[in-house]
Amino acid sequence: MYKNHNAFPKAKQAQRHLFPHACFACRKVFRKPFATQGRICPQCSGALIALGRKFHAPKSTDSAQWKKAHVLVEHGFFFESVYRATELGGTVAVPYPRTLAEVPAFVAEFKGQARPAQPVRPSER
Ligand SMILES: [Zn+2]
Repeated sequence: MYKNHNAFPKAKQAQRHLFPHACFACRKVFRKPFATQGRICPQCSGALIALGRKFHAPKSTDSAQWKKAHVLVEHGFFFESVYRATELGGTVAVPYPRTLAEVPAFVAEFKGQARPAQPVRPSER
């Protein structure tokens, strides 16, 4: 299954400028170029939320993972890199929480790196 990235240089080039845009109400993700004006969900016409490429769309039935992403966005974490200072004076990228239970500690430690929070329309499911 694994294929070397170099096997698809054009595909990789094209993907470089595509970002996941999530609709939390539909639990869908659309990969689109970044746009300064807001994008609209083609399914429900709600606002899409642009996320960093660390975001991997959960299955639409995975309520726990969608809730986790929802809470992170509401706290201003848009799946862009977050860093922790090291003892040697450098920084190291920190993985995002794997579960909702890990979110409060993550938010508390890294809130200084959060962007302005964005309200999220929850799924009705
Ligand atoms: Zn939608």
